Amino acid sequence: MGKAYRAERVFLRDESFGLSGSAGFIEALKTKSQQRSESSASISSAPDESQTAAQLIRQARGILVICHIMPDGDAIGSLLGLAWALHKLGKEHTLACADPVPDSFVYLPGSEDIVSYPEGNYDLVISLDCSDLKRLGVAYDQNSLRGVPIINIDHHVTNVGFGSVNWVDPNSAATAQMVLTLIERLGVPLDPTIATCLLNGIVTDTRGFRTPNTTPAVMEAATRLMMAGASMSEITQQVFNRRPLAVVRLWGRALSAVQLDDRIIWTEINQAMKHECGFSSDSGDGLVGFLTSACEADVGIVFTEKDNGTIDVSIRSMPGIDISNVAMRLGGGGHPQAAGCNLNSSLAEARERVLAELRRSLLEQAAAININ
Ligand code: 5GP
Ligand code: MN
Repeated sequence: MGKAYRAERVFLRDESFGLSGSAGFIEALKTKSQQRSESSASISSAPDESQTAAQLIRQARGILVICHIMPDGDAIGSLLGLAWALHKLGKEHTLACADPVPDSFVYLPGSEDIVSYPEGNYDLVISLDCSDLKRLGVAYDQNSLRGVPIINIDHHVTNVGFGSVNWVDPNSAATAQMVLTLIERLGVPLDPTIATCLLNGIVTDTRGFRTPNTTPAVMEAATRLMMAGASMSEITQQVFNRRPLAVVRLWGRALSAVQLDDRIIWTEINQAMKHECGFSSDSGDGLVGFLTSACEADVGIVFTEKDNGTIDVSIRSMPGIDISNVAMRLGGGGHPQAAGCNLNSSLAEARERVLAELRRSLLEQAAAININ
């Protein structure tokens, strides 16, 4: 399969969340910022939504910044990078994430300030790295935030456009790369703290600059962040080179039970395995990437039984095979080569469902190649 596929981007604004009250204002702001960007020569390559986002932030008095549940390095890095910029602007803000910060990202300055249940009066919500409202989890309280505009900043191809402003750029390798543009639009000078948080996002989402979307623009953004004081070696040490023994043991257990069929490789992690290895997190923590490195496989999957009994499904594919559509059909989302979903079923049922859906999609993609 040598051809890249991209799922149709569906932008559905979910009116049920009561955002319509702010729509007129947002539309007017968009027109205004478009006029401004047309007459201005500054940073002209970014889409107009970044101007609108910057304008809304300048006007806001209390900002709630949220990233997705089961946060990864891009979610946490983007959240904290933007937070430090808001701090420099003197903007009141709260940082929220429904789930705890994973151990590998606790080193980032400000990670201790992230709360699960934000309390306060907000006139703006900024959602980072999150493709649908459900994925903000308990950190986004629909009732208290009804009518508050949401800026949706994300790079997932499966983003459903749930915000009042949707700045969604699947060509960006990381949301942190977009936050860097936003911070520049806001006129906030970079410093080592902001730069470290944002570089953490770019490094993790590109798996250390190894994904196909690692373009010269990504390298250029990383260079700017290093020049502002971020240490590439410290970040890679924190996020890739060190992990608790419990994780090493768990990988060992999971890898010894690996299955391969028709170029799909998968394994499962159940509650008993986690307890026996002393592993307390809900995520497979990078295992799926390693699994998918097997030459005999094009797609890798890790099924993890979470503490709440649901099954986390983490999928990776070789370039040219799009698994974001499979994840989306199963109620999840992601990128063409890295996606996931959460299923309310047993491990065995999840395995059968995901494998069936994946096989169907691979056949469709193969057929599409033959037609074209
Ligand atoms: P991971 O396998 O690392 O958990 O996730 C891979 C990618 O898929 C990430 O970009 C993540 O945000 C996305 N993803 C994972 N699980 C879900 C899910 O349940 N829903 C959605 N919308 N996206 C998911
Ligand atoms: Mn991301």
